[in-house]
Amino acid sequence: MRFMSLASSSHGNAYIISDKETRILLECGLSRKKLQTLAGFMLSAFSACLVSHEHKDHSGCVADLIAAGIPVYMSQGTADALELETVAAIRHGEQFTVGSIDIVPFTTFHDAAEPLGFLFKSRADGDVLAFATDTVNLAYRFPGVNILAIEANYDQDILARSERIPEKTRHRITNSHMEIGTLCRYLRGLDLTECREVYLLHLSDAMSHEGRFINQVRRCMPAGVQVAACPK
Ligand SMILES: [Zn+2]
Repeated sequence: MRFMSLASSSHGNAYIISDKETRILLECGLSRKKLQTLAGFMLSAFSACLVSHEHKDHSGCVADLIAAGIPVYMSQGTADALELETVAAIRHGEQFTVGSIDIVPFTTFHDAAEPLGFLFKSRADGDVLAFATDTVNLAYRFPGVNILAIEANYDQDILARSERIPEKTRHRITNSHMEIGTLCRYLRGLDLTECREVYLLHLSDAMSHEGRFINQVRRCMPAGVQVAACPK
């Protein structure tokens, strides 16, 4: 399986997951035009779109995708929050399949109605990929995972030094997004012997440090694993 980031920030998120047979759009938090331009091919080439939660930077052009006839999957809570009826409702722990890719949604921890992360397994090449963004922490271990795409939003030391951030914003960040130290502790608890690639998602504009985050995560991984931060 391949993981590709088109956009990864609080201004918009969109990713592509593909194997030889199936191409899935993950998040659609951009305008249709921008998504089309960044993807570089017709949106109809996507077998489906999955949306993790209702926030605009993840769901921006979902109505356009539905209008274009692309099957859209999200939790019932997300669909209700977006006031959408023509979507496929998916639930934590209940596997479904898009083309050659089996998908198991799992609960994430965010200030949204019913947010989900996704575990993908390709029947075409056997790869396992875990995707989780906008979540304070993770409760699952993903045995045999080959590719990890996980939020690394902020550094608590940078946040602590940022005196101009209002208390309300500070509270929201710490209760809805993944801190780099939390991510590292989580990674150290995983069996990563099969892991090849790690993608860091949704780095905060002001409260992250790309180079340091990559180095911190690298130190948690077996030698030879590629670690990259997705461009904003
Ligand atoms: Zn969000």
